[in-house]
Amino acid sequence: MQECIFCKIVKGEIPANKVYEDKNVLAFLDINPRSKGHTVVIPKKHYATLIEVPKDELEGLFGVVQEIGRKIIENLDAKGFNIGSNNGQMAGQVVPHLHIHIIPRYEDEKEHYGFEAAFPVKEELKNNLADVVKKLLETGGAKEEEAPEHEEPKKEVEQKPEEKKEKWHFLED
Ligand code: AMP
Ligand code: ZN
Repeated sequence: MQECIFCKIVKGEIPANKVYEDKNVLAFLDINPRSKGHTVVIPKKHYATLIEVPKDELEGLFGVVQEIGRKIIENLDAKGFNIGSNNGQMAGQVVPHLHIHIIPRYEDEKEHYGFEAAFPVKEELKNNLADVVKKLLETGGAKEEEAPEHEEPKKEVEQKPEEKKEKWHFLED
């Protein structure tokens, strides 16, 4: 099987306009930008979708999403940004390596692309909500996540210097 295109970017086998990178996370401009500064943030490790990512890796990933969002507002003069992630083919995922899109929004754009544009409200789905909630709870995921009664306090893990290495490629303060 041909290796995933985002893994190739991680390895430096194909070029990308990198924005940020550290030991675990890489961000680069989308090759087909939906607006100026459209960036994708990925874990360097190959995970197909959000579901596969260990929870302790999410903070680092979404911390970068947050920081790029801030820089988009402050340095590119965007007035807002959308974040989105297509998970699964049925959701429109084309590259099967988890990525979070950050799409800056500017004042002079004629159209706005909030949730309403992508997912218009379906009035008929306002019924039977209790059934939906019940189904979501039936997955078992929530139960497994319950914290044990006597949880050991988490030990502070000392970071090695190379793990602290972060690199901004542009959009500097
Ligand atoms: P998705 O539909 O969420 O899987 O989006 C995949 C995104 O990856 C699209 O927006 C593509 O434009 C983008 N993309 C594909 N190949 C590259 C590449 N080599 N460098 C940067 N972005 C890419
Ligand atoms: Zn990959």
